[in-house]
Amino acid sequence: MVTPKLYVLPELPYGYKDLEPHISEEQLRIHHDKHHLAYVNGANAILEKLDKARKDSADLDMKSTLKELSFHIGGHLLHSLFWGNLAPAGKGGGMPGGTIGDVIAKEFGGPDRFRKEFTQAATSAEGSGWAALTFCRKTNRPIIMQVEKHNTNVYPMFKILMVIDVWEHAYYLDYKNERAKFVEAFWNIVNWEEVNKRLEGL
Ligand code: MN
Repeated sequence: MVTPKLYVLPELPYGYKDLEPHISEEQLRIHHDKHHLAYVNGANAILEKLDKARKDSADLDMKSTLKELSFHIGGHLLHSLFWGNLAPAGKGGGMPGGTIGDVIAKEFGGPDRFRKEFTQAATSAEGSGWAALTFCRKTNRPIIMQVEKHNTNVYPMFKILMVIDVWEHAYYLDYKNERAKFVEAFWNIVNWEEVNKRLEGL
C-alpha cells in the first residue's frame, strides 16, 4: 500500500553539543530546529496547496509553485544529507578509508588534492549554496558539484555522497562572515564512514 505522507524533520544522529567546538550548540540548534524545519514546513505547505488546487480544480502558477517546491525539498534533503555526513568531534575527520578512500585516491591522486578542490568549491559558491561530492555510476568517477541556494543542479543519476552547507546561516554565530574558517573546521567532523556507506550502497 502506498500512502502519501508529508515530510518530517529528522532528528540529528548526535547531540546538539557533539559537534563542538567546530559547530556550536547554539548554531546547530538554530540551523536544525529553525532553518531546516522551515524547509520541511515550506515543502509540506506546497504539497498541501497542490492537494487543495487539485481538489478544487483551481489553477496554479506552475512555474513559481514548482520553483518554490524545488527550493524547499532541496533544502530539506540537502540538510538531511548534511547532518548524516557529520560526526561528533573526535570521531570524525581524518582520512577517508574503504572504498571512498580508494575512489578519492584514483580520481584526485589522494585526499589532499580532493580536500583542496572541495574546499575551493565550498568557499567559492556564490551567495548561498552548497558543495557536494557526487558519484557517477556510468564512469565510476566522483565529481564535485556546486549547488545554488537549494536548487540542486544535480546530474540526475549521480548519487550525492557528501555535502557542506555554506549558507551564512550555517556558520554566522560561530565564524561571523568567515566561511573559509567554517569549511576548514568541517574537515574535522566529516563522517567518512557514512560517506563510504553511501558510496557502497549504490
Ligand atoms: Mn542550512
